[in-house]
Amino acid sequence: VKFFADGVVENETGALLAPYCTGLHDHAGQHNWEGESLAEAARRVDELGLQIHIHAIGDAAVRQALDAIEYVVAQNGPRDRRAVIAHCQLVDRDDLDRFAALSVIPNMQPLWAQLDALMTVLTIPRLGADRADSQYPIRTLDASGAPLAFGSDWPVSSGAPLDGVAVAASRTTSDGDPPGGWTPHEILPVERALTAYTAAVAHQAFAENTWGIIEPGFSADMVWLDRDPRLTPPLELPSTSVVGTYLRGTLASPA
Ligand SMILES: [Zn+2]
Repeated sequence: VKFFADGVVENETGALLAPYCTGLHDHAGQHNWEGESLAEAARRVDELGLQIHIHAIGDAAVRQALDAIEYVVAQNGPRDRRAVIAHCQLVDRDDLDRFAALSVIPNMQPLWAQLDALMTVLTIPRLGADRADSQYPIRTLDASGAPLAFGSDWPVSSGAPLDGVAVAASRTTSDGDPPGGWTPHEILPVERALTAYTAAVAHQAFAENTWGIIEPGFSADMVWLDRDPRLTPPLELPSTSVVGTYLRGTLASPA
């Protein structure tokens, strides 16, 4: 069950701990759920045995989502619930280690972690330089032991995973800007990015014994590429050709 804790930064509906830089007032976005209501709704969903999935973009929304999941654990007791917080654009420094501590999956969209026009025109002026540079802490969360998973958020942005892997492994635009990457300390090795798009998503879907790795007994859902992405410069990944796609071991395309 997906909850929307907040909106997005670009129209100032993302919920922030400190106000937006552009506003005339002390405007810090909006929470869709007031007070304890998100935590209580999440608790009831969890009680039914369903998986909690919370959209949270701003650092205040991410904190509210973590608080809600912490509340669920305290109230309903420990179990293998695999709660998900989607996007995690801004995570306050004090909240970074809570993902691993609570086994919460940060499901992130690496394609967004680039200095494109959306970022320079709409996002950075609203966040200011310091907060802007702390966006999408992908490597930090991965290194913290959080069960990092990737997604595309299609149709909001490209559904092609290699487009996302390219940015995860470079933090540049498709033109290679800026050289060396924007916030390069958050660059993720290609192999980790591939894991986040495959085995980690299988874990998120409670399907780690069926999907996500190539091994006897697993569903042979595979993509055959024309080159080894681990040995390919990130900027060339989006032009990698798909030779064939297999669904449960059967060649699905080209037919
Ligand atoms: Zn969302």
